[in-house]
Amino acid sequence: MKKAEIFDFEKLTTSGEIDCACGQKHSTDMKILTVGRGVIEQLPDALRKLNVRQPMIVSGPFSFPAVGKKVCAVLDEADFVYSVFVFERNGAKKLQPNEEAVAEIVKNYDPACDILLSVGSGSIGDVCKAAATELNVPQFTVGSAPSMDGYTSASASLELNNTKATVNVNAPVGVLCDVEFMAQAPMRLLWAGLGDMAAKTCSLCEWEMASIITGEHYCPDTADMVKLCCERSLSGAPGIPARSLDSVQAVIEGLLLSGVCMSYVNSSRPASGLEHYFSHCWEMMAIARGQEYDLHGIYVGIGTVITLNIFKKLRQLQPDRTRAEEAAAAFSRGAWEARLRRVFKGTAESFISLEDTLCKNDETRRMQRVDRILENWDTLVKILEKAPDPEELEAVLRRSGMPTRASEIGLGADDVADAFVCSRDTRDKYLTSSLIWDIGYMDEFEAFVKGLA
Ligand SMILES: [Zn+2]
Ligand SMILES: [Zn+2]
Repeated sequence: MKKAEIFDFEKLTTSGEIDCACGQKHSTDMKILTVGRGVIEQLPDALRKLNVRQPMIVSGPFSFPAVGKKVCAVLDEADFVYSVFVFERNGAKKLQPNEEAVAEIVKNYDPACDILLSVGSGSIGDVCKAAATELNVPQFTVGSAPSMDGYTSASASLELNNTKATVNVNAPVGVLCDVEFMAQAPMRLLWAGLGDMAAKTCSLCEWEMASIITGEHYCPDTADMVKLCCERSLSGAPGIPARSLDSVQAVIEGLLLSGVCMSYVNSSRPASGLEHYFSHCWEMMAIARGQEYDLHGIYVGIGTVITLNIFKKLRQLQPDRTRAEEAAAAFSRGAWEARLRRVFKGTAESFISLEDTLCKNDETRRMQRVDRILENWDTLVKILEKAPDPEELEAVLRRSGMPTRASEIGLGADDVADAFVCSRDTRDKYLTSSLIWDIGYMDEFEAFVKGLA
């Protein structure tokens, strides 16, 4: 695929399977992907193309007045019959993407409708995807903010049993993002989108490193595409404070395409690494404490700056087998469990039992990974050198006005340290923190990240 073609969204949705040099066939189920100024007027045509008769609009208390009303007006003009469900405002509180919200949509769904038309961004998108999957109806999204890369994904991030979990759902059949409306979204949502794209400076390196250490699949072409998405989005940073339409378009195009890239390889690897685990952990820590959590992309942007600092320190190391062996011998299962319980409270038990299947703490397996790390250390350092300098990236994000340090959003040095140390335990991904633990440098890096808060 030529560089110029990558951002041709029409082509992306119509070109079928790509026979890739990586050995996989890549494709997207997305039938409509429309981005640009004034494209909301194209919504009726898009729905007709999908043979939709009667959409059910689902929106939130903020996104409905911002975008939903215009959606209704456009559908009225095209003589569409439709139903509407808008979540009620709960004071200043954000919509909680939980089972109750999903159930509320299911309960209010008009059975005469043949598609769920979600109007919103992160949380609305997540609950709509889950509800449409439960109702077994297709779902179409009109985005309201360039705030995260999950619009096109077949997963939803939901609060379940007092924690945040990623659930498999059906991907939407189409996404339409009108840049003129997106540019008017709250500034924090614009920042969040930049943060979610900045993440790719870390996730791509980590994906390539993990493929060497654990042997998982890596696609250089997909990685190149995500790199272009990331560059395009970050180029928009300086125009964000003034809500420049070009900047907002650059960010949303990067976010959407990075979502398509994840579906190409059936994995979040290209777009999500350790920097995202800071976000996952801080969300779960907030829920465990009964506190509200910040936007995904705000956490991820801060996690990206920390992770790039970790990369910079890591590429200066010269790890050795003796140190790794000593750390393996000193590992205490009791202390490991106690920390997870302190940080995540009740949710810790699921991470502790995850170890029964993953066995990542098993000494033999650990030393096998250490051997692969030591054999390939020069290559791993070269991969780490592909990431930008943390100061450079932080300066780019700063130009948008967004927070880049944990302390700016009320998190302390211990929160950063806990998220870093526990990141390797919350899911089955091999992260940079997993590598640091393997080679016996966890304590040193824990002290280092505390200084980055
Ligand atoms: Zn490939
Ligand atoms: Zn993300």
